[in-house]
Amino acid sequence: MLAFQEDISLAAPGVPIQFDSARMRRGSEEISLKRVYSAETLVQVVHVQNLLAANGIVAELRNARLGGAVGEIPFLETWPQLWVAEPVFDHAMRVIESRDSQPAEASEPWRCAGCGETIEAQFSHCWNCGAASVASS
Ligand SMILES: [Zn+2]
Repeated sequence: MLAFQEDISLAAPGVPIQFDSARMRRGSEEISLKRVYSAETLVQVVHVQNLLAANGIVAELRNARLGGAVGEIPFLETWPQLWVAEPVFDHAMRVIESRDSQPAEASEPWRCAGCGETIEAQFSHCWNCGAASVASS
C-alpha cells in the first residue's frame, strides 16, 4: 500500500493516471481510438486490417472472438471491429472507402488532367487533347 502511494506521488499533480494492464498512461500521452470499420465476419475485418497496414495504418482488432455473444449487447456491437488512433482516422476511412469503390478490374472511367474530359477506362490517352492517362503511366 505504501509503495503504491509512492508511485502516485511521482506523477505530476492533477494528471490522471490509468493502469491499462502492463502499461500506464497519463495525461496527453493517452491516444484515443475510434472505430473505423466493422463487418459481420472476421475474414472481412482482417482483410481491411491488412489493407490499412499496407497503407501504414495500425488498426486494433476487437471482438475477434465475440461473434457468438447474444443478449444485452446490440447486434452490431458484437461484430469484429477495427479501431485506429484518432489522428489517422480520416486517412483510414479514405483507404476503406476507396477499397469499397474500386472494382477488381480497372473499368472505371478516368478524368483527363489536361482538359477534364471523362475517358473510358480502355483508352490510355485522351481522345480530346491526347494527354496520357495518369493511372496508366
Ligand atoms: Zn484531354
